[in-house]
Amino acid sequence: MNYSCDNSRAQEIARLILPLMTRLKIPMNPINYALWYEYQLGRSEELVEALDRIESGQEAYDPEKAKALFLRCVATPGVEALERVEAEVCRLLADIVQVVVDAGLDLNKYSAVLNSCNKRLESADDLREIRKLVRTIQDDTRAMADSNRAIAGTLKDRAEEIDELRAELDKVRREAVKDPLTGLANRRAFDERLAESLDVALQELKSVCLMMIDIDHFKDINDKHGHQIGDKILQFVASVLKRNFKGKDMVARFGGDEFAVILENAPRAGAMRVGETIRRQVEESHLKRTDTGEPLGTVTVSVGYDCIRPDDTPTKVLDRADKALYEAKQQGRNKVMVYKG
Ligand code: GH3
Ligand code: MG
Repeated sequence: MNYSCDNSRAQEIARLILPLMTRLKIPMNPINYALWYEYQLGRSEELVEALDRIESGQEAYDPEKAKALFLRCVATPGVEALERVEAEVCRLLADIVQVVVDAGLDLNKYSAVLNSCNKRLESADDLREIRKLVRTIQDDTRAMADSNRAIAGTLKDRAEEIDELRAELDKVRREAVKDPLTGLANRRAFDERLAESLDVALQELKSVCLMMIDIDHFKDINDKHGHQIGDKILQFVASVLKRNFKGKDMVARFGGDEFAVILENAPRAGAMRVGETIRRQVEESHLKRTDTGEPLGTVTVSVGYDCIRPDDTPTKVLDRADKALYEAKQQGRNKVMVYKG
């Protein structure tokens, strides 16, 4: 996210949020400060809605949710790096233009010298004068060759720098769409892809399904074993998903302990089968702590899905998959449900 350098605006926001955070007993750490700062700016609808719930007392403050919200709505991973690389590319291009302009000037000077020598040669009738002119041409040609060598070297260096920057840019681009914990696509990449998939599916009349997967009682797992183990379980569920979806399917971490999959070319029955496979593989995992070998108990997931319809929008299909997931939770969790509307 970008912030203006207007100091009085920043102070005004600080005056608003400090009493608010104090009243709500929100720890005044940098993540929370950034969240409530962004809340005042009101640029992210999701963030405003989430903090409104805390502000009105509907929901309690949760540090993990705050962290997830921060990563989703405030931190824009890679954007600063991207801006830096872009500025570097601009600098390099300006450099190259300058080198080429300088080379042009040298060439002009050189051709002017050659022209004048040529004219003087035509009228020269004494050997000494001719020898002097030849020496001038020789000196200038040598100077030109030296300058060309320097220009060639500079351009080669710049070309290498551009190659490095391009590689860095590719890396930043890849990371900007990835969830750092699980290596899956992040929410931003998922939202973009869902809109695209919907367009393609509606144009080409393909069956595309949207599946939501949520870990059951994950809060209890965190409370019992700690957040580090919680993180390992998130990574484990991500690995089960990666194993079961290939090709054009997109698996993303939707947020917190929730994952989303876009299944391309999947009929409803096929989606049910793969949902069941995932549910079973997680249930049968028998995970243990790597340090003590202590079993972590049974980890389960609930799955809800639906296929897209002719007049669908991303919001509508997400809403139906979410309702199916809610139904799976209501039915006792560790279930796969298709939307029944
Ligand atoms: P349910 O079966 O209804 O889904 O219960 P739940 O406990 O899983 O429900 P809820 O969605 O309320 O809890 C999700 C928890 O996930 C809350 C939050 O503390 C935790 N969480 C979110 N992001 C992370 C993370 O990156 N790492 C860890 N360890 N925990 C996280
Ligand atoms: Mg959950």
